[in-house]
Amino acid sequence: MRAATTTIWIFVTLIFHASCAPSVIKIGAIFHDGCEEDKATFEYAVDILRMNRLAGQLVLEPVIKWVRGNSDGIGTAAAACDLLEEGVAVIFGPKSPYTRPIVSSITARYSVPHIEYAWRPMDESTLQSTTINVYPHSESIASAIAVLTKAMPWTQFTAVYETDDGLTRLQEALKLHGPKDSPITVRQLGSGPDYRSLLKEIAASREVNILLDAEQDNVIEVMKQAQEVNLMKDYHTYIITDLDLPGHPILKTFVNSTANITGFSFLTEKRDEISEALGFQVKIEAALLYDAVMLFNKALEGLNVANAETDTPLKLAPTSLKCDAKNFYSAGRNLTDAIRSETRINELTGPILIDKSGSRRNFELDVIEFHLDRFVTIGVFDDKEFRVTRSAKDRQEDIEKKMETTFYRVTTRLGPPYLMLVTDGSNRGVQIGESRYEGYSVDLITEVAKVRNFRFQFELVPDGNYGSYDEVNKSWDGLVKRLRDREADLAICDLTINHQREQAVDFTMPFMNLGISILYMKPEAEDPDLFSFMRPFTTEVWIYVATAYLGVSLMLFILARVAPGEWDNPHPCNPDPEELENSFDLRNSLWLTIGSLMQQGSDILPKAPSIRMVAGLWWFFTLIMVSSYTANLAAFLTTGKMGETISNVEELAAQTKIKYGLLGGGSTSIFFRDSNSTTYQRMWAAMNEARPSVFTKTNDEGVERVLSGKRGYAFIMESSAIEYNVERHCELMQIGGLLDNKGYGIAMPPNSPYRTSISKAVLTLQERGVLEELKTKWWKKMNIETVCEKEDAKSDADELELRLANVGGVFLVLMVGCAFSFIVGILEFLWNVRKVAVDEKVTPMEAFKGELRFAINIWAETKPVKVAQSSRESSSAPGPGRMGRAASAARSLVGSFLRLDMLDNFEKDNASNSKSGNQRND
Ligand code: GLU
Repeated sequence: MRAATTTIWIFVTLIFHASCAPSVIKIGAIFHDGCEEDKATFEYAVDILRMNRLAGQLVLEPVIKWVRGNSDGIGTAAAACDLLEEGVAVIFGPKSPYTRPIVSSITARYSVPHIEYAWRPMDESTLQSTTINVYPHSESIASAIAVLTKAMPWTQFTAVYETDDGLTRLQEALKLHGPKDSPITVRQLGSGPDYRSLLKEIAASREVNILLDAEQDNVIEVMKQAQEVNLMKDYHTYIITDLDLPGHPILKTFVNSTANITGFSFLTEKRDEISEALGFQVKIEAALLYDAVMLFNKALEGLNVANAETDTPLKLAPTSLKCDAKNFYSAGRNLTDAIRSETRINELTGPILIDKSGSRRNFELDVIEFHLDRFVTIGVFDDKEFRVTRSAKDRQEDIEKKMETTFYRVTTRLGPPYLMLVTDGSNRGVQIGESRYEGYSVDLITEVAKVRNFRFQFELVPDGNYGSYDEVNKSWDGLVKRLRDREADLAICDLTINHQREQAVDFTMPFMNLGISILYMKPEAEDPDLFSFMRPFTTEVWIYVATAYLGVSLMLFILARVAPGEWDNPHPCNPDPEELENSFDLRNSLWLTIGSLMQQGSDILPKAPSIRMVAGLWWFFTLIMVSSYTANLAAFLTTGKMGETISNVEELAAQTKIKYGLLGGGSTSIFFRDSNSTTYQRMWAAMNEARPSVFTKTNDEGVERVLSGKRGYAFIMESSAIEYNVERHCELMQIGGLLDNKGYGIAMPPNSPYRTSISKAVLTLQERGVLEELKTKWWKKMNIETVCEKEDAKSDADELELRLANVGGVFLVLMVGCAFSFIVGILEFLWNVRKVAVDEKVTPMEAFKGELRFAINIWAETKPVKVAQSSRESSSAPGPGRMGRAASAARSLVGSFLRLDMLDNFEKDNASNSKSGNQRND
């Protein structure tokens, strides 16, 4: 009985021990020489699990095998078989790409899980049935690198890799580059340790964007050498493909470098804790091994818990397996499956979830930037996506902080009023080389620097150009080139923002708005023309009028002779006259036509229908001519301007007399070159064909050409420059409006981090009115010798008033006409004297004296008629001649004042007088 009791007790105790004593599960690991840190981390992980073990949980016991060489396949196979024989439930490692496939094959054969923790190239991506790789899948890493590269504001870059594996990691990023993008360069680092010659070549190519894939231990060395060859300066941007950028604390030695370094961080903060416990910095693979142990343990515990709830528990503890026997680990497949889909942990390398093929595809990578003196997380890559997590505001604040310590190189070019030499020896402006310069650009940058608190130094752009793109050489010149070469941080002058430049460099908000227009001479004031009253008609028209006058007079005369209606009875009382008379002799015809041309009419008027018709037409002609003359006269009398004039670009384009040109290589020439408008295209063609060339090197040269061109040259330039020159050269003016609208901006190298800050500063200056003040100062106040009289100040009334000079010609004609008629009068008088002398048989002198005495006796209102003359006339000149000299004298005296009936009475009196003898009328 006692023996039976003892047996039962022993049995119960055994059962109790079996259920309460921890079950030990051996886990194997194979390391090559040099992996001591991995081994220590592995053991540490097991220790941690042991320490945190809860009742009922399994206990892991590490079994470690060392294989000397990285490529010792036989040694590795032996180590794996040894581990299987010792009865391990899993084998971790080895890390070497040469030996781990051997372990994979062996473990697969015996259904023992195998966990890898090193990077696996893409072409080896198919894992054995029991293998799991906790290193992120190579495809996912390549895609993370590609996504980050794409997220960078790069148009071109140089990819530098060290190993073939590195090149495969970069493949996806290289594929992103389309055929239309700028060329990218791919370079291999070489065997090292001196990479300087390659890095120097990259520096010489002016590349600033570098995608670097180097072995983890080499990254810092490459960066150090890059710094030595000036490849770690402002605007140099690096992406380092290493998954553990903060794992290079030595990177902080580049704190003074202004280069921007971006990379990934894969490890969580727990790494620091474990590193401290272990006494060394846990690297990425050691961290992955740690996580692999945790992952395996979780899967194992999962099955262990499941065992407790089932009637058919799995035998989790492996038995000893022999490599030459047909045996296998019965729970191995279950363990592999558990790890491959259900098990999740979040330890040193973030969340781990293995897919069914045994790969780790879902993982998170922090994207970090080495900024100033610290690492800043700027985003997260997860599941093929890059999410920016750092706010734009934080980023901006960092940049503004950095600006305060940055010394800016400002490039510019000479040209008034933006930058001009200080010639009076004073200390104004800024020092550039040996001389001092001042101007709008200097003041503007000084104001911007005050807002943003930075220091600067000016330099003159070596080639003096603004910046144009050479399509043949595919290169820029001038200020734009300087920025693109990162030889300057800012470019300021009258640099126009245009589409092509926008692609090449960055611009701030415009600080001045303008457009293209035409600079030309003002119309010159014309010397008043005495004969401007002749100008309403051209000489040709005057000649035609005179010809028409003579022609019509002649026609009147001839028609009057043939028209019976014009032959009148000289004595209406005599119903049967012997002779008829015609009043339209040549003189009267000329008199009628001139009378109507002068709008005065005439005392003799036609009666015959044909003559009336001619006279009517002539009056119609004179009506139109006189009206046209009068309508034009005022305009011609008042216009005081002359010379070729244009009032807009269309008129300029339509003529060929005035040559026109512009500044070569500037944005204005680009505007004309690329314009779709037919007018501008025509103008561009005309400018290119013009000889000598109409293009200038500077705006000043263009202004000089307009001034000296005697109204034969117009310069197409920007309105701001026109405004400046018009203030200083009163003879110049802007013609027409603006052909376009654009602005000047401060330019910076492409993707400059300072663009937003400087733009904001420009906006602040605009809001404070500083920009306006600067413009007034440099346009309207500085360097002005004479202030131009404003055109519109003159009143319209002033313009319309006619001065003597405008109408002097009419006076002149009157005077000359009067003088001529006086001479004619004298000739008539002398002719009469001669006649009187002959008739009265006195000497010419006596006759002259007598006639003169009578002429100057202004009280004598009537003149006696000579008897002999009268009687002779009355007897010898009957008929039409009977009207006689006295009648014609009377006619010419009374002219048009008397009507014909009065004349007839006078003629009658005259006739009766002559009949009644030698009477003299008083
Ligand atoms: N501001 C122009 C430029 O940036 C130069 C002057 C012009 O082309 O009229 O190219």
